[in-house]
Amino acid sequence: MKKLLLLSFAVLVMFFWIFPANAKTLDVATEYKDAIGQYIQVYQSGDGYLSKHDAFDAFRNGHFSLSDNPVINFGVGSKPVWLALQISNSRKIAMHRNLLIETAWLDKIDVHYFQQEQLINSYHTGDSLLFAERPLNRRFFVMGHDFTQGETTVLIRVESADAMVLPIYLLDNEKLNDRDRVQAYSYGFMYGVILALVAYNFMLYIGLRAAPYLLYSIYLLFFLALNAAYTGHGYQWLWSESPQWQQWANPFLMMVCTVSGFAFALHFLAIKIAWPRVYRVIIVSCAGFSALILLAMLIDEFVIALLISIGFIFFFYIASVILGAISLRADNQFAKYFLLASIFSICGGTITANAVWGFIPFNWFTYRATDIGMMADAILLALALAERFNINQSEKLAAERMAGIDLLTNLNNRRSFYKFVQPIWAMSLRSKSNTSVIMLDIDHFKLLNDNYGHALGDRVLMQLSETLQKEARSGDILASWGGEEFLVFLPETRLTDAVAIAERMRKKIATIQIATDKEEKLSFTASLGIASTLDGNVSLDELISQADQQLYRAKKQGRNCVCSESSG
Ligand code: GH3
Ligand code: MG
Ligand code: MG
Repeated sequence: MKKLLLLSFAVLVMFFWIFPANAKTLDVATEYKDAIGQYIQVYQSGDGYLSKHDAFDAFRNGHFSLSDNPVINFGVGSKPVWLALQISNSRKIAMHRNLLIETAWLDKIDVHYFQQEQLINSYHTGDSLLFAERPLNRRFFVMGHDFTQGETTVLIRVESADAMVLPIYLLDNEKLNDRDRVQAYSYGFMYGVILALVAYNFMLYIGLRAAPYLLYSIYLLFFLALNAAYTGHGYQWLWSESPQWQQWANPFLMMVCTVSGFAFALHFLAIKIAWPRVYRVIIVSCAGFSALILLAMLIDEFVIALLISIGFIFFFYIASVILGAISLRADNQFAKYFLLASIFSICGGTITANAVWGFIPFNWFTYRATDIGMMADAILLALALAERFNINQSEKLAAERMAGIDLLTNLNNRRSFYKFVQPIWAMSLRSKSNTSVIMLDIDHFKLLNDNYGHALGDRVLMQLSETLQKEARSGDILASWGGEEFLVFLPETRLTDAVAIAERMRKKIATIQIATDKEEKLSFTASLGIASTLDGNVSLDELISQADQQLYRAKKQGRNCVCSESSG
């Protein structure tokens, strides 16, 4: 038994020793759903240029080494690399398979297919070439090939100053299209959400003319442009004629996106007013970073421009959290949204940056983490801007209400009296119903002020307005007519009813007692004049003026009484 085990172990060891190539040979008949990095052998040739035949020889002589990551990653500013794959087809019929390199920003890609030491097919692609020169109209790099019977060696040379992340797949047409479709849906969803938020904030800006809404929609637009640039959508749809722009789009859009993000944050949190020094530091830093990036672009230093842009974004992340935190401590009501949104963005951005740089595994989630973070960020800030809108609206309403109210008596002033009365007046004219108006004035108020002081006079006014409010019916409209005069508008009220109401008010007023500091209770009286529409041929102002004349009569008749047309 022991012998048998030993023997089978030896057979196993021999099997792997004799056929080590099996571990790295891909079979066209097998379906590979994930990135095939572990099957790829890698070679970096130092500084010297290697022709495809030199590379093939280097591969045959065992200078390539097997990668142990599903996604091969050399980070930013790497030297050109050579990759080798062995693909076998055991059947007689040729099988079509696509090699997909899912990084849109790679500058130059050369793919060579060798069979029995013969070069049988080559592709040249990369985003430094015109989009039209691509083998297939895709935002990533896809090379199709009919693999005939036997072993095919595929040699790939990749050159790029951008992050050299190489998620490589071997897929048949159907799987390639499936993969494309799933990604198209997710990007369609994300671009749709963000474009809707751009439109929403822009509309709010048109309506409210408040800068943060405009700045936020600009920031989202630049974020979209940047996303389109590094995912290859931009080159495929928007600027396929311009490989020059495709090269510089990433660092440039990273810069403008960050600047617009700062512009929004500073405005939204009102940093300039609250912390002018912090504001200045940020403005100077933005100018500094932008100048360095533009300078690097000007002297054609791509890697430097890219590294400074990445630094700028990280400065933005850190500054956002600090700005959010200090605003939160200062009780800025929008800071909590901003802080939470920034934290989502930071987490997403950091995960993606680390994946692209090769510190953590590169996969769908780590690559799309920025997008997920940004969607959360955008939705949270849309909520915050909506709340800001709400608060603005209610502040405006409150201000409007305050502007129509007499501060001492809490009654309508003349302005809001007319605002409320006008439509009711128009209705009563149409329905030819009776309307009455009572004008009221406190008797000898000047004397009262002189004897007891102005403050007590004010208390009298307050007490009187409270009494009037209690005595008036729900449809009546009260107003402070200036000083110690009051007006009561009585819709659908005939003169006799108005007189009764006025009498009730007069009596009630006479019972009011106000405590004074002289240990005596103060009481006072008022005179009231009434006018009513009889045949409907008066204007509102004429009616008020008639009531005023009746008030004058009441004063002349000895005060503390009610006068109306009918009282002769
Ligand atoms: P009459 O019985 O004829 O109405 O005598 P009167 O003293 O009340 O005369 P008049 O109506 O002209 O009184 C106006 C006085 O009302 C002048 C001013 O001292 C006082 N007054 C006007 N507005 C206010 C106010 O807001 N607070 C106080 N305490 N007094 C006011
Ligand atoms: Mg008066
Ligand atoms: Mg008076």
